[in-house]
Amino acid sequence: MKRFQKSFLKQEPLPQRSIEWVNEIMTTGRLHRYDVTDDDPGHAALLEQEFAVYQGSRFCLAVASCGYALYIAMLAAGVKPGDGVLCNAFTLAPVPGAIDNCGAKPILVETTRDLTIDLDDLRAKCGQAKFLLLSNMRGHLSDMDAISDICAERSITLIEDCAHSLGAWWGDKRSGGFGEVSCFSTQSYKHLNSGEGGLLVSDNEDIMAKAILLSGSYMLFDRHLAAPDKNRIAELATMTPNYSGRMDNMRAAALRAQIPNLDVNCARWNERYEVLAEGLQAIAGVRLPNRFAEERYVGSSIQFCLPDYSQDQMTEVVQGCAEQGVELKYFGYDEPRGYTSRFDSWRYLDHGIQPETLPSTIRALATLLDMRVPLTFEIEDCHLIVEIIADVLRQVNA
Ligand SMILES: *Cc1c(COP(=O)(O)O)cnc(C)c1O
Repeated sequence: MKRFQKSFLKQEPLPQRSIEWVNEIMTTGRLHRYDVTDDDPGHAALLEQEFAVYQGSRFCLAVASCGYALYIAMLAAGVKPGDGVLCNAFTLAPVPGAIDNCGAKPILVETTRDLTIDLDDLRAKCGQAKFLLLSNMRGHLSDMDAISDICAERSITLIEDCAHSLGAWWGDKRSGGFGEVSCFSTQSYKHLNSGEGGLLVSDNEDIMAKAILLSGSYMLFDRHLAAPDKNRIAELATMTPNYSGRMDNMRAAALRAQIPNLDVNCARWNERYEVLAEGLQAIAGVRLPNRFAEERYVGSSIQFCLPDYSQDQMTEVVQGCAEQGVELKYFGYDEPRGYTSRFDSWRYLDHGIQPETLPSTIRALATLLDMRVPLTFEIEDCHLIVEIIADVLRQVNA
C-alpha cells in the first residue's frame, strides 16, 4: 500500500529578513505599532503602505485577524444592529461570526455546484439587505461583473472576504478590488503567514478613517501612512469607539518580507494545483468545480466532488485516504469537525437555520472534498497524492 509521508500542515520557513527583523524588534522591545520614532515609522505602518501598493488600493489597515477586519469593515461601511447582511451559505465560521459581532443578521445565500454564490438566490434575497459580505470561499471567485451590477442596481455595499483569494485576479482587477472595502487573512494557512493577522483595504476615505479609529488608533492615527487625510480622521475621532484590535510590529515585520515573494508563491501553488487537478479530473467519478474564463485563481487548496457517492461512501473515502497519509476534508458532515462547519451548525443564528432552506448548498457540500496544498509539497508529491486518491476510490467502489 502506498503511503504519503508529508504533513498537510507544515509551512515553509519565513524569509531570512523576517527572522532578522523580528529578532531586532525583540531586542529593542519595540513591539507596539505606535512605539515609533521620527525617523522610523515602524513595521506596521510600512506593511500597510507596501500592501496598499501590492493590492493597488489607496488605503490599508493591518489588524489582529481577518475575522476582526470583516467586523470593523462592516461597522465602518455602516452596518447597524438588526441590519441584514447577505453572505454565502458556504463559508468559514468567522464570517457569520463577524456579522453577529456587529449585532447584524446573516442572510445566507445559496451555493452553486461550482462553489460560488448563487446569483438567482442573491437577486431573490436582495430586498432584505443593504450589504453583501462576499466570501471568495476556498479561492473560488463568483462572477464579479454580475455581482458589481447587482450591487449597483440595488444600492448594496459590497464587502469582499478575500481570505483565500489574495493574489487572484478577475479580468484586469485583483480580487479585493471590487468591494467598497475588502479583507485578507494572514493566518498561517492562507497566503501570507504571521500566525494570525488581517489586512483591510479600501479606496473610500470615510470607511478607512472609521476603520482606523475602530481598530484602536487612539489619537495616534497620524502615524498611519496608507491612510486618508488626518483632518478627516480627527473629525470622526470622538464619535467612533475604540474596539482595540491592532497588529503589532513583530507580525507586521514577518509579513513585510513575504510580500515581494507573494506572486512567485502564487505561481508555485498553481504548479502543484495543476498537477493535482489534471490527475483528479482523469479519475472516473470525480468532478472539479468549473471556473470562469475571467478568473485567475491561486491554488493553495483544491476542491473536488464525487457526485455519485453516498454520505457513507464519502466517509469511507476520507478514512481510506487518511490511512494512506492523505488528509481530505469533507464538508457534508452533519456536525462540525476541525475548522469546517456547515451553516446549519451555527445554531446561535435565529435558533438554527434548517438545512432544507438551502438545498443547493446542502447538495453541493454533500459530495465535496477539500485538500490543502502546502508549498512544502513537491510536484512528485502531488502525483503520489493523485495515485492514492485513485486507489482509494477504486476500493470504495469495488
Ligand atoms: C480564514 C478565513 C477567514 C478568517 O480569517 P482569520 O484571519 O482566521 O480570522 C474568513 N473567511 C474565510 C473564507 C477564511 O478562509
